[in-house]
Amino acid sequence: MRNYMKHYINGEWVESTGSETMDVINPATEEVVGKISLGTQEDLDRAVQAARAAFPSFSATSKEYRVELLETIAEEYKKRKKDIVAAITEELGSPVGMSDNVHYQMGLAHFETAAQQLKEFEFTERRGETLIKKEPIGVSGLITPWNFPTNQTSTKIASAFAAGSPVVLKPAELTPFAAVILAEIFEAAGVPKGVFNLVNGTGETIGNGISSHPDIDFVSFTGSGAVGQKVSENAAKTIKKVALELGGKSPMVILDDADPKKAAKAAVTNLVMNTGQACNAATRTLVPNAMHDEFIEAVKEVLPGYPVGDPHGPNMVGPLAAEKQWDRVQGYIDKGVEEGAKIVIGGTGKPDGLEKGYYVKPTVFTDVKNDMVIAQEEIFGPVMSVITYDDLDEAVDIANDTIYGLQGYVVGEDEETLQNVASRIQAGRITINNAKMDFTAPFGGYKQSGVGREWGDFGIEEYLEVKAVLGMPS
Ligand code: NAD
Repeated sequence: MRNYMKHYINGEWVESTGSETMDVINPATEEVVGKISLGTQEDLDRAVQAARAAFPSFSATSKEYRVELLETIAEEYKKRKKDIVAAITEELGSPVGMSDNVHYQMGLAHFETAAQQLKEFEFTERRGETLIKKEPIGVSGLITPWNFPTNQTSTKIASAFAAGSPVVLKPAELTPFAAVILAEIFEAAGVPKGVFNLVNGTGETIGNGISSHPDIDFVSFTGSGAVGQKVSENAAKTIKKVALELGGKSPMVILDDADPKKAAKAAVTNLVMNTGQACNAATRTLVPNAMHDEFIEAVKEVLPGYPVGDPHGPNMVGPLAAEKQWDRVQGYIDKGVEEGAKIVIGGTGKPDGLEKGYYVKPTVFTDVKNDMVIAQEEIFGPVMSVITYDDLDEAVDIANDTIYGLQGYVVGEDEETLQNVASRIQAGRITINNAKMDFTAPFGGYKQSGVGREWGDFGIEEYLEVKAVLGMPS
């Protein structure tokens, strides 16, 4: 049992001023594995005050100091690998291999990349007699979701530290363990007091508290569109800058020269990654009419290669993170059937032999029309909609017929066509043929997928204000 009853404020672990607590459930066993205290407005005010007090000195630190700080954090982070992997597996139900190769690695990559990019980052630019300076924005409030407990926290914190902005973090109450370990890492790395503050709590109290706090200058939020709207509304009252990383309904366009087996593999890996709980999951697969049957046969062959089960076993797909998510996914599978789509593999209910835990069957629908609910709404589970197209113009129209624009995928052979389709999909990131990850590439969405960009130098920019000083002869 992990009992994390304290918040980390001003460089110390402090008791909450409230008495409310919340249990943390292991989604693979449905057992309580920990407890957090739910912070109060008073706790948040103390954290914001600490960050505000740290701002003058932290914002004045040199670039070299902050590069070294980020490098020290990365070293301390590596020392906690076992704990991070265990915590994420326990709180999220992520298979151990995934907790290690994806969750642990992504957190590390953000600190290392921020250090690297900071070395090259120019904070000043001269234009004749005008000097343009980029200055730390002030105190940043960070609100993160449960699906990538180290990725989303680390990208925000690494960028903020690189820029010289102290932070107050409220991680998701469903998966708070990894953030507590991060706080311990920052403590060990010698992050100055007040620069990092962690307040656990609900969206209602701490989330709303952050977005409407008069002493917070910038809010970086990752989560659902509905909450993103609320964050923007609250922030508008004090004209606070807001960055939003929201949902997606990302298309994967399979070109007619693609090998159906390779295409099925690309589609399935993207579908089951993190049990489909990824904002950039490829959930709409656009397949040429002529390839449909062969593609579906290939998917049926490939999918069983990703077994669902105990995250500590050799399985590649764990449970969903919570019972509420399980109910949500079941509801969407029912909705798909009701709308006339056809299940080719998967369906409602738990996979055989997995009665305990929030396990679902990865499900593939065909005969999907893009205006169906299952093709338009974010399901946040391993449910794929296969949609057919006749020509590339139609494929691009379908790909862009969504309120979202977080990511797009293209799979095929002809370079020119791949690039043409990539340039026509309206999304913040396009992946061609499952290209390998680039942590310096910006991450963020067009349309209702969000506002702003994270990762690398684009992420650092979010935590900076721009000042122009005129009349500065060189
Ligand atoms: P959520 O919006 O319910 O919660 C996200 C965070 O916001 C949590 O910490 C929660 O406590 C907090 N919150 C809740 N109410 C709040 C309020 N009124 N004010 C401020 N904060 C509040 O989302 P979730 O269920 O945790 O995560 C799933 C959603 O997040 C999905 O829609 C998914 O697409 C999206 N997501 C997007 C990205 C991205 O990078 N674009 C990444 C991960 C998840």
